[in-house]
Amino acid sequence: MNNGLTVSPDAVRAALDTVKDPISGEGLAASGRVSGLNIRPNGAVGFTIEAPAAAVPHYQAVRVAAERVVAALPGVQRATVVLTAQAETARTQPAQGPGRLPGVGAVIAVASAKGGVGKSTVAVNLACAFSALGKRTGLLDLDVYGPSAPTMLATQGQRPRPSDDKKLIPIDAWGLKTLSIGNMVDADQPMVWRGPLASGAARQMLEDADWAPLDVLVLDLPPGTGDLQLTLLQRVALDGAVIVSTPQELALADVRRGIAMFEKTRAPILGVIENMSWLEQPNGERLYVFGEGGARRTAEAVGAPFLGELPIDVRLRESADIGKPLVAAEPDHAMSARFRDIASRILENLAKGQKPAPVIRFV
Ligand code: ADP
Repeated sequence: MNNGLTVSPDAVRAALDTVKDPISGEGLAASGRVSGLNIRPNGAVGFTIEAPAAAVPHYQAVRVAAERVVAALPGVQRATVVLTAQAETARTQPAQGPGRLPGVGAVIAVASAKGGVGKSTVAVNLACAFSALGKRTGLLDLDVYGPSAPTMLATQGQRPRPSDDKKLIPIDAWGLKTLSIGNMVDADQPMVWRGPLASGAARQMLEDADWAPLDVLVLDLPPGTGDLQLTLLQRVALDGAVIVSTPQELALADVRRGIAMFEKTRAPILGVIENMSWLEQPNGERLYVFGEGGARRTAEAVGAPFLGELPIDVRLRESADIGKPLVAAEPDHAMSARFRDIASRILENLAKGQKPAPVIRFV
């Protein structure tokens, strides 16, 4: 029910029908091109327009018109409209599953069972470490719930430019090519990116961006191991996955869920990284804030390689907050060396070949 403060979905659809879909000639809502309508109590309205891939440029004007008519409705404070290329139909989809990104050597996903374990910090600094090891590296931040790459790499407010053939040109930062959902919407706009929106934007950044030539593309996944993550992963052929965990995550079930998710994508687990392993005291002793060695034991129990430990480090946190990733900005820092060690172990495990995901042993 409309309480008078916000707008109703019907009112939004009626307004959208005053804009014509250029292909069918119908009203935009009636044409079925509008999805993911999200109306917030504060009057922020967001939705996606899905256009056929080849016609996306022609739909820019439609997007602008749709935003204008919705923003003009009483009760609407702000309208955010995202234009995405329509999902391919089953007929045109390759039967073999997701395709390889042309000109990209290896695609590696960084995942975690839950938020706040430092997955994004690790993804950004790992990407810098691959770069320090001489690999041409990209970082694609798919964390739709809280994209942090723009903050960590100081690319806030930057937009990917379109190339001559209408592809997105990734942003250059700290020697990386990078794109984030945070570079596709304004920071002060509501994060209406959920489910279908996320999937549409991810498709655009994966399939319609000029990543090549790259040796490694690091994907920062949203935290968790559910359907959203799986949907994102099914858009691209993965070469391997890295799982970030804190020591107290003894819950083997969490890591098992992650492994089960990657089994569905047939990506090998390149290994488990333990983050926030300890805090070094002024007297040099290690304080095991979250318990000791949990991630290593978990990795062993599930038969996945253990990649290394990253202690709690104030500089790592500060450098992420100010947009100067430690591994790139302070290569001589002890943490930077740890990241390079982990990165080279990942490259070794990649080179060992496309082993299937490990068989889970019960201990
Ligand atoms: P996630 O992506 O898993 O949600 P983030 O990478 O955003 O987690 O990290 C959460 C917070 O923890 C950030 O403030 C980050 O700077 C901090 N952080 C992550 N790893 C470390 C570490 N090893 N030492 C100190 N702070 C860390």
